[in-house]
Parts: sequence; structure tokens; C-alpha cells
Amino acid sequence: MVIHSPLDCFLWEGFEVDRFDVQGNHMTLQLMPHPGHDLACSQCQRSCSSVHDVTHRRIRDRDLLGYQTTLIVPVARVVCPCCGVKARNISWLDKHARITTRLVSHVEALCRLNLPIKHIAELTQLHWHTIRRLDKARLAREVQPPDWSQVKRLLMDEFALFKGHRYATVVADADTLEVLWIGIGRSRTEIRPFFEELGDYRQQIEAVAMDMNTAFDLEVQMHCPQAEVVYDLYHVISKYGREVIDRVRVDRANELRQDRPARKVVKRGRWLLLKNPANLTDEQSSKLDELLQANQPLMTVYLMKQQLKELWRAPTRRAAMRRWNRWYSMALESGIKPLQHFAKVLKPYLNGIVAHAEHPLHTSVLEGINNKIKVIKRMAYGYRDIDYFFLKIRAAFPGNAR
Ligand SMILES: [Zn+2]
Repeated sequence: MVIHSPLDCFLWEGFEVDRFDVQGNHMTLQLMPHPGHDLACSQCQRSCSSVHDVTHRRIRDRDLLGYQTTLIVPVARVVCPCCGVKARNISWLDKHARITTRLVSHVEALCRLNLPIKHIAELTQLHWHTIRRLDKARLAREVQPPDWSQVKRLLMDEFALFKGHRYATVVADADTLEVLWIGIGRSRTEIRPFFEELGDYRQQIEAVAMDMNTAFDLEVQMHCPQAEVVYDLYHVISKYGREVIDRVRVDRANELRQDRPARKVVKRGRWLLLKNPANLTDEQSSKLDELLQANQPLMTVYLMKQQLKELWRAPTRRAAMRRWNRWYSMALESGIKPLQHFAKVLKPYLNGIVAHAEHPLHTSVLEGINNKIKVIKRMAYGYRDIDYFFLKIRAAFPGNAR
């Protein structure tokens, strides 16, 4: 006569523990079918009376009382009157699985906490590939397709993929910050699938914020001719920092070749010049003042940067236009070559700059998304599974309520 405890029947429905073996902190439980339990076909759930064959499968379960637990489970194939020879239905084990559904749920819960895979592998003693596979399946199940019908304003940006020179494009809803789409590449043909997915809803797009010098604007004009392109303050200002301030600073340092202490101050001033003045300490502010006072062209381009930012703070398109005209003539009259060049290159993009007055898309948002992508990338580094990486990003930006 078989004596079974209710606990094992509860933990492993249809089975009971036959033997167990403990070695160190590992416990192996040999299960056997509970004789009173109906055998059901895994396909149609019909009860079956005859067993075709039995194989023993090693299955990992959640730790029991601190023991890392492995089950040895006799998995039967039954002869189903409808389906033929089929695996027996086991409520706590998926077909072909090597870990119980209970352990799968546990791993999924840890993945939802955004713990690095390495840590989850250590915690559960499961292989890293297994965890990635489970997390990817979870994300594919949980990440919902976007509700395109509500999308009116977009943010488009690119970021570098892993260490290579390949890029990816990310499209987000400017109003909810939901990441709508991610694709490899940043060329027109590579971002076209986004517009295809958008389908007829492309007619309702009002504005798209982006960096200058990308293929995005041409593609937007082609698919959403009614949409206004808005250039991103953050990108324009960082371009100004690189192409104007840095250039003038290096030229100035070269001029000061004979005056070593003054040259050193200029060479080391990069960070002070590029940082938002609101974030400088008192000491840094006075260092910056000294630097600017002693170097007139640097002072000019520094102040022109602050003035340039004002274009994005204009209350109306007309005010923005006025600010631009003033800024443009000051740039041309400055006599500073990198500044003059920058102004001329920027001019064709003017429409997309003044458009900000009407569509004040918050550019800091793009930066925030990119920073979070960097964190995910760091955590994802090593497995180079692009699909998984993209799913992780979409899951990290499900969007706020409208
Ligand atoms: Zn069946």
C-alpha cells in the first residue's frame, strides 16, 4: 500500500515522492505517479487509460527549504483515443521543459525587477542562456503592440549599438514617452518599416522631433507631409559645443603658445565652457569668468551659445524668428570663422527650429531615454541578442497615461 502525504501531491499534482537524496545543499527527489490520479492527454485533456511508454526526466524546481532541488520525474506518453500517442498532461510542467512552471514564474519575477541576468543565474543556479530565453519569452508575451490610433507627436533618435559602429533608431510617442518602435540602422530605408507599421495613422502625425543631419526628416516629409519637423535643442547645442566652442578654444590655446600658464587655463577650460552654467559651483563660476574675461573670442561664442538656446524658449514662431535674425547677424559680424560657418550651416534648418515654439517637444526626454538605453545596453552586453535588447527597451518605456 502506498502512503502519500498531501504536501507532495499538492506541490507536484499527480505525483508523490518515492525517494529523496541529499548531498550538501542539493536535494534530489525521485517522484512516482500517484496511483489515484487520472492520466490525461496533454493535447485534448481527455482521460486516458493506457500508457505507451515512460521516460525519466531531470527537472529543476524552486529551492525547497534552502536545498537546490532537482526532481526525477517519470514522464509518461499515453495512448489517447483522439490524438494518438501523446505526452501525459502535467499541470506544473510544460511540454519538453526542464524546469517547473513554478521556477519559471520565479525567474520571471526576478527579471521583472530588472536584475542583471548574471545575478539571477547566481541566485537560481540556472544557466544564463536559460534565463535569457525565459525573459525573452516573457517580454514577447507582455510587451503590447502600441495603440497607434492615439499617436500624434513623435520623437526620433538614434543610438550606437554595442561597441560597433552600427546604429539603431528609436521612435517614441512624445506625449506618453512610450517607445513605439526600434530598428537597426538609421538610413531612410532602414526606418521605413516604422512608417509602414504606422499605416494610415501617419496622416494624424502633427510633429516629429529629431536631430539635424539625419535621414529622418526626408522620410517624415515623404510619409507624413503634414507633420512639422522640430529640431532638437540638445543636439544643436552639443553640436555647437563641438564645432564652435571647442574649435575656438583650441585655436586660442594655439595662439597662447608663448604664454604657458594662460594656455593651460584655456586648455583645461573645456568642461567649464560646455557645462550648463546653472550647474557650476561658485568656485567654478569664478574660474569661468576669469577664462572668458581673458579670452574675448571665447567670451563671444560662449554668450552666443546662451543666445542660441533662447530660440527654443521663444513663445511664438514670430518671436523665434526675430531672435534668429538677431543671432544670425551677430554671428556673421563676429568675425569668428567657426561661428560664422555654424550659423550658415544652421540656416537651412531654421523652420525646424522655430517650429519648436508651436510644438514644444521636450528634448530632455530623448536624453533620458538614451541614458536608460545605455544602462540596459550595459546589462545586456555580452549576449548580442538584438531582438531581446529591443524588447527590453520597449518594456522599459511602456508609456505614461495620456
Ligand atoms: Zn488527446
